[in-house]
Amino acid sequence: MTMELTRALPEKVLPRHQERQAVVYVRQSTPRQVVENRESTRLQYGLADRACGLGWRREQVTIIDDDLGRSGSSALDRPGFQRLVAEVGLGHVGLVLGIEVSRLARSCCDWHQLLEMCALFDTLIGDADGIYDPGTYNDRLLLGLKGTMSEAELHILKARMHEGRCAKARRGELFLGLPRGYVLKPSGEVALDPDEGVQRAIRLVFAVFERRRSVSGVLRYLVDHDLQLPDRVRSGPNKGDVCWNRPNRATLSDMLRHPAYAGAYAFGRRHYDGRRRLPGKPHSGRSYLRDPQKWMVLHQDALPAYIDWSHFERNQRQMAMNRSRHTGVPRGGAALLGGLISCGLCGRRMFTTYTDDGREARYVCHQLATTYGEARCQSISAWPVDRLTSTLILEALSPAAIEVSLQASEDIELERRQLHDQWKTRLERARYETALARRRYEAVDPDNRLVARTLERDWEAALAAEQSLTDEQRRALAQVKRPGFPGGSNL
Ligand SMILES: [Zn+2]
Repeated sequence: MTMELTRALPEKVLPRHQERQAVVYVRQSTPRQVVENRESTRLQYGLADRACGLGWRREQVTIIDDDLGRSGSSALDRPGFQRLVAEVGLGHVGLVLGIEVSRLARSCCDWHQLLEMCALFDTLIGDADGIYDPGTYNDRLLLGLKGTMSEAELHILKARMHEGRCAKARRGELFLGLPRGYVLKPSGEVALDPDEGVQRAIRLVFAVFERRRSVSGVLRYLVDHDLQLPDRVRSGPNKGDVCWNRPNRATLSDMLRHPAYAGAYAFGRRHYDGRRRLPGKPHSGRSYLRDPQKWMVLHQDALPAYIDWSHFERNQRQMAMNRSRHTGVPRGGAALLGGLISCGLCGRRMFTTYTDDGREARYVCHQLATTYGEARCQSISAWPVDRLTSTLILEALSPAAIEVSLQASEDIELERRQLHDQWKTRLERARYETALARRRYEAVDPDNRLVARTLERDWEAALAAEQSLTDEQRRALAQVKRPGFPGGSNL
């Protein structure tokens, strides 16, 4: 390293750099790495000595370690990196030092921003390999490459980790949080929870479901008997201790659907939908349970079981049946206010339930009841509420508005009748003309051929006129034709 220093010093490090600060940027990705990789952290702090060796005074060296223990592939999550860029941008920095220069930034975007700033403000960049001047083409090219390599490395690492996880899952050895009632032995083996109280509580859930056949039935039972669900503390200083939680619908439903209780190892039961992700929160999407035939991995008889597989399958069928019974209820049914009405006592949205094959509806406030098995808040038959609401709505609608629309429909009726009358008159006149022409033709002496021929033509013309008028009337009336008003054939 000393050799490197003497080589780098005369070339790039100039007094105008040494006048300003040297910043040492210290970073480890995760809190675990901070704890486990002390050597690396020590090395990074050792960079301060290196800055002194390059001609900076000790008091000129600033260490930025705000990002220690933060994992993040973008600068947004790392205030330390942003501080570094800001300091460079203020022209305070003559040299930026990192243990591995490409690890200063973890995305190419951040990296190029830093390079740009350093080039503009004549700041050197240094790592264990050497000192670079981002203002020169060659160094800039090298630094850019280092950034790209680092990003690629991160990508490959991630891909490998994912592949490794999948392989482990295929072997049935990947456990991401065991379900309650199970513990992971130090040997890596999964066992039933050794606490008999825990085991009893788990078995009870399945036994009660066998009798009551619904998740809410089990929930009711647990609440009525003041029973709680056991778990093991998953993190923190009390990790591994047994804790008892208030039962809720989601937990019970998860338990009853989890194949582990039937001794099966399963992986990839959930399908993650990232479209629901909130900006800036990478894990905030929603996940859905897949059908068992679409699970990534399923090994039966892999774990100690609380129930057998046929029992598990029976439970799934029962829950599916319960579900379809609910979805069979007409939605947007007879109740006027389904999904619109809120509870006056607790303010929660009320649900609509139908009985008697959809003919009777009730508004029910039972969110607390279904989630935690508490008592129902209140419920009310739908029709008095609906009737009152309809009355209020009709009152609220301006009577003038109704009058106007009634008036408009009368006007249309009148117009239509006037139209018919007009056509009627026109057609009557045409028929009269025809009849007159016929009578004239018939009255003439057939020997008077010249006159007869003229009268015959007049009659034919009158007939043709009448015919074309009839056609025209049919077309005109077809446009305003209404039921019970056939296109003028009665005229
Ligand atoms: Zn309520």
